[in-house]
Amino acid sequence: MRVSVDSGRCVCTGTCAFVAPQVFAIENHSELVVLRPEPDESLRDLVLDAEEQCPTGAIQVTG
Ligand code: SF4
Repeated sequence: MRVSVDSGRCVCTGTCAFVAPQVFAIENHSELVVLRPEPDESLRDLVLDAEEQCPTGAIQVTG
């Protein structure tokens, strides 16, 4: 599984970091970073929840 965020679409709500803090974080109050671009399979459900809840569809999950 690979996770990426389209920085052009992300509006830094922090939703993904709240849902899956193992994978996403907001840094400097305004920058979303993907902590684990290739997270463990055990995190798949959380990552997919974050993807679903992102209001702008900025999160891409492949694999
Ligand atoms: S949920 Fe979407 S818009 Fe909000 S911080 Fe995450 S990637 Fe950005």
